[in-house]
Amino acid sequence: DSKPDPLHILFFPHLAHGHMIPTIDMARVFARQGVKATILTTHLNASFFSKVIERDRELGFEIDTVMIKFPSVEAGLPEGIENISSITSQEMGYKLFKAVSLLQQPLQQVLEDCHPNCLVADGMFPWATEVARKVGIPRLVFYGTSYLACCVLDSILRYEPLKNVTSDDQLFEVPGIPDKIMMTRLQQAAELRDSGTNTETTVVLHKLLEAEITSSGVIMNSFQELEPAYVRHYRKTLGRKTWHIGPLSLCNNDIEDKLERGNANAVSTHRVECLIWLDSKKPNSVLYICFGSVSWISPTQLNELAKGIEASGVDFIWVVRKTNKDEEEEEDKEEWLPKGFEERMKGKGLIIRGWAPQLLILDHEAIGGFLTHCGWNSILESITAGVPMVTWPLSNEQFSNEKLVTDIVRVGVGIGAQECSKWMESKKLLVTKENITSAISQLMVGEEANDMRNRASALKWMAKRAVEEGGSSHSDLKALLDGLRLNSI
Ligand code: UDP
Repeated sequence: DSKPDPLHILFFPHLAHGHMIPTIDMARVFARQGVKATILTTHLNASFFSKVIERDRELGFEIDTVMIKFPSVEAGLPEGIENISSITSQEMGYKLFKAVSLLQQPLQQVLEDCHPNCLVADGMFPWATEVARKVGIPRLVFYGTSYLACCVLDSILRYEPLKNVTSDDQLFEVPGIPDKIMMTRLQQAAELRDSGTNTETTVVLHKLLEAEITSSGVIMNSFQELEPAYVRHYRKTLGRKTWHIGPLSLCNNDIEDKLERGNANAVSTHRVECLIWLDSKKPNSVLYICFGSVSWISPTQLNELAKGIEASGVDFIWVVRKTNKDEEEEEDKEEWLPKGFEERMKGKGLIIRGWAPQLLILDHEAIGGFLTHCGWNSILESITAGVPMVTWPLSNEQFSNEKLVTDIVRVGVGIGAQECSKWMESKKLLVTKENITSAISQLMVGEEANDMRNRASALKWMAKRAVEEGGSSHSDLKALLDGLRLNSI
């Protein structure tokens, strides 16, 4: 007897770790629901998750990758530059975005060849809505951020509150959203700062919103219990069709998946060493510090951070990716670390240069706090592990995400960051040693710290419950799949 063909979904993530990681998790979640999942990406980007996919296939899930050639050379980039994390200058960044815009035709070709029932494409590809329409299938938008951040963005574009502020650091209230959220112009992403006055950047943002509105709906990596007022606002007040299906990282059950997630390299000793090192520490005693996969921090700021950490006296794991030193200079640790720092910190702190197994670190019982740049994946992963945060937003919508953590669910202490840096331009000293030490101490010790830890722990269980059978995210996922199967999306 013949079974109906499974639902086939093509997933098209943006070419950055912070976008690919949750999209791959999402494709795996769908595959576990009997969906045939195909991930469209480039050769180099596929290497970051090929092992995870391979193992899923061995387990019998229908999940596969389709490659397109990335037009690096056509856009004026060197061969082999296919991911935002390999960009080392603003000019290269612009070229990468140009290359991305050349992917429309290849995407259409793949859709024509593979005949999926639906395209789930990253919110950064506004043109994907039109490409899907041409081949007659629904396009769903995937946003790897919070509902709160989407609502703040909508408010600023809709009501243009920045028109009425007279200085960069004047506080204004974000209009028409569920909570009283105060922000400054400096805390807005570079593209938003001039909204209402600068037509060029506003047009680009409006295009993103238009593609979202004309799409068949929006999938979010969040869960109802975390930001219920914003889920409601996005759905009811803004009238968007949306499904929250997170936290997606919870689909990584085994150690191999967690180790290899987002990393093309073989297991490095660091990855295992840091877990063994954590075993020797007391519960909730270690601070984990990581600024995600793309952020650039000046050597001066890193130096100040090191001083702040040392003065706080806390044990720590610190992931240092790279600094925004001039390109192609040899990495010189002394340039960003205070003299003798690493030697003095032996036994107290571990510095990881490169990629850390973040999920495994956060899950370790020795971790008592996470100093994060407020990338949405990091926040969700921290919440899912029940770990409270020191929030240090750097760019994009991270200042909005911070508000959710510190003011709304109250599982974090703000470090006092005031300025959203323009992409790849964070040369200034943004946060002082005193601020750093004080925020770390507030997070790690005292009654307030315990309250935050208890709230974080409660959210952790809500997150786990959300993705279980009958949970809020699981129900949304089921509703989405039913809609797609019935062609009613
Ligand atoms: N990540 C990791 N190891 C690292 C740095 C980052 O596993 O050393 C992962 C992290 O777990 C998260 C993602 O990379 O899933 C970063 O996404 P986020 O949204 O936090 O920040 P972005 O990199 O997009 O700024």
